[in-house]
Amino acid sequence: MLNALTIDLEDWGQSVLDPRLPVTDHVIVNVDRLLDFLKHHGVQATFFALGKVCEQFPQILPAVAECGHEIASHGYGHLRVDRLTPAEFTEDLQRSVDIIESQTGRRPVGYRAPQFSITQDCMWAGPILSEHGFRYSSSIFPIHGLRYGIGGWPRFPGFWPTCRLIEFPVTTLRMFGLNLPVLGGGYTRLMPAAVQAHAIRRANETHEPALLYMHPYELVPDEVDSFRRDGFKVSWPRHVTQALWRSRVAPRLSRLLRQFRFAPVCKVLAVSPPKRMAAPDELAVEMGPAACLAGA
Ligand SMILES: [Zn+2]
Repeated sequence: MLNALTIDLEDWGQSVLDPRLPVTDHVIVNVDRLLDFLKHHGVQATFFALGKVCEQFPQILPAVAECGHEIASHGYGHLRVDRLTPAEFTEDLQRSVDIIESQTGRRPVGYRAPQFSITQDCMWAGPILSEHGFRYSSSIFPIHGLRYGIGGWPRFPGFWPTCRLIEFPVTTLRMFGLNLPVLGGGYTRLMPAAVQAHAIRRANETHEPALLYMHPYELVPDEVDSFRRDGFKVSWPRHVTQALWRSRVAPRLSRLLRQFRFAPVCKVLAVSPPKRMAAPDELAVEMGPAACLAGA
């Protein structure tokens, strides 16, 4: 069973502290390190690229695409969708599409909202994505979260009720009648490693692909401290929630990449299309970059 590995290509300070902050060159070093890590494991992923990062450092996307990874959109400015109007969202989205297309020669077909911020308050976003040629989104966390999530949303890939967009949520673990977030980001640091493998295995046992997300900076144990040293203000609560046990991420991810099979989202959806999809071949042709579908 193929599972989806996804990366939000962004810079820690600008994306976590404040979207008005400048993008730093940490992101160049971190992406290089991540590309080496993925190459070492022989795994390709989907990179949800932030337009603002790619605009400032135009060498990054071609290098990522060169390695055969799928390039998708993470919007332009890392603005929460549920705080935008439909017009503002469309503008941010289009700006990211233009940058990705100009740097890679391909229009992205996948989108992830910053901070999984497609919530009940902005369900207009799905049809807008569909109208702009997007085939899938990975923007809704199917949990009752404080900052994000739609509790009753299906846990595995399926079509939006209002358009032909596929939603492929980050995989959760169903326990005690709740969907628990366990895979990716801070959850990879804070949850027991065995729980993450268990969540992927449980999904695959029901013939559903799992999806894991992470960021380039998560492979760097002292990333938060280095921003502090550079003069960025990081409160102690944020330092604890963002930096605790970060050295665990690389070894844990290595173990998961050896234990399970991972691929870019486009390839996973081509192999395991959601119900009601006409034909996997048709999906493959429409969705995938050639390199991604050519057997990577
Ligand atoms: Zn992000």
